[in-house]
Amino acid sequence: MGEGEIKVGGVAVASGQIARGRIQVEVGTAAGVEMPVVVVNGSRPGPTVCITGGVHGAEYPGIEAAIRLSRSLKPEVVRGAVIIIPIVSVPAFQRRAIYVNPMDGVNINRVFPGNPAGTITEVMAATLFREAVARSNAFIDLHGGDLVEALVPFTIYYQSGNAAVDEASRKMAEVYGIKYILRSMAIRGGSYQAAAAMGKPAILTESGGQGILDEPSVQIHIRGATNVLKHLGVLEGQPEAAERPVHFSHSSWLAAEQGGIFYPAVTVGQKVAKSQVVGEFRDWFGEPIAKVESPAEGIVLFLVTSPAINKGDPILSVGILD
Ligand SMILES: [Zn+2]
Repeated sequence: MGEGEIKVGGVAVASGQIARGRIQVEVGTAAGVEMPVVVVNGSRPGPTVCITGGVHGAEYPGIEAAIRLSRSLKPEVVRGAVIIIPIVSVPAFQRRAIYVNPMDGVNINRVFPGNPAGTITEVMAATLFREAVARSNAFIDLHGGDLVEALVPFTIYYQSGNAAVDEASRKMAEVYGIKYILRSMAIRGGSYQAAAAMGKPAILTESGGQGILDEPSVQIHIRGATNVLKHLGVLEGQPEAAERPVHFSHSSWLAAEQGGIFYPAVTVGQKVAKSQVVGEFRDWFGEPIAKVESPAEGIVLFLVTSPAINKGDPILSVGILD
């Protein structure tokens, strides 16, 4: 908020100060979990913005962007405050686990806003929301393709039904600067969905993937978050002019109907027609088992690039144009 002390997970930060610390997640067992947190408390009043990386622990460009933002944002230029959690899922980061927290096998981005009496991942989600998201006015969650996923950068926001919140989220998505914007209506416990449902404008942004820490993907996140901070008045100046956005009304996920070795026939960002062949399964001897067709006409947003696919695993997602 600026002009007042902020407390996040036991880290108390006076106005005009920056502090680094840890949010302790209480799980009732000996093995606790902690999340790094940086609070930049501006000396002038303004909104509080929460920025997270590492909700999925192997999405490295978002983690790196959050760390760099936490080191470059200075209290003297910030109006309001910025609360940055560079790595939410530390256990997944340490274990290089895809999708889920290895401690309980739960995908944290399906259980927001969490449950303080639930499994460890649900408690982590609840702690993040209680300590950081609930005391913020807006929320930016930095993601990318996971270790086995390639993607074309895109931004997601949730259509919650609250017109003012939805408009604010859409505007944040547009100023972030990534061309592809997906409006999500399904409720799946996503960070941005839970935040919007509690009245906090929010976006989830995807850049990079496949376990690669590449500079262009980091820069997309840093530029995007900086644009949103300018748009919200936390930083001085105007957001950079963004490319004309392409809006998707929803996306269609394709899950594997059988396991095998998957050979994709498309790449991310490619336009596909409904029922177009997007890949093929072969068995362990190289014999073709099944062709895979696109569930819809649109743009391939992400693609699982590991050939090891099990029944029920996601394969790709197609963004469907407005
Ligand atoms: Zn993710």
